[in-house]
Amino acid sequence: MQNITEAQAARFWATVDKTGGEDACWLWPGTLNNGYGHVSATISRDRLAHRVAWRITHGHIPPETPCVLHACDVWYPVDSFAYRRCCNPNHLWLGTKADNCRDRHAKGRTASGERSGMRKHPERIARGDMSWSRRHPERLFRGHHPPRYTPEFVAAVRNVIGWKRWLSHREIGWLFGVSKTTVRRIETGEIVGHPLTTRETECAAKRYNRNLSRQRER
Ligand SMILES: [Zn+2]
Repeated sequence: MQNITEAQAARFWATVDKTGGEDACWLWPGTLNNGYGHVSATISRDRLAHRVAWRITHGHIPPETPCVLHACDVWYPVDSFAYRRCCNPNHLWLGTKADNCRDRHAKGRTASGERSGMRKHPERIARGDMSWSRRHPERLFRGHHPPRYTPEFVAAVRNVIGWKRWLSHREIGWLFGVSKTTVRRIETGEIVGHPLTTRETECAAKRYNRNLSRQRER
């Protein structure tokens, strides 16, 4: 996560409401996301205001303690989420995800029973025609299907088969990571290439980008 510049920090603090004084909650007056202050993307890629406040004050959030937690939630009624807008760095502490759950539970803030999302918003549960499997029937895995090869792959194998007698089917199979049977089936035309579906192309592109960004992190 890139650092927040002085100018961005100044813009951030200019937005936060500090009128209550040093010890009070500094509430975020602007847009909210799930009750938490939502800062502009031009200030930070990490968009949650209390996290931005912590990062401006203390810097990097270490990966071992990725959660910025509020200590001031105890001042608010148990079913109020107003504390989430607080950006006073003195009210914030770093914790693990387990800390987050434990803390929330100890303070009676875990939404259970009548306060749980299932009970409060039964209409939001994806059921029937809104269920994932109805909305994306093409993504359901229905039984076994043979591996599919792209036209490019089939063309590449055919090209090597064209060097008659240089390599056996078994050796060509080694080259491409397929069996000699697959090589034979490509030669006889039993296996023809299929272009990837849009969905498969999307997945491949996502996988590629993900690997790329992981390599950059290292
Ligand atoms: Zn606070």
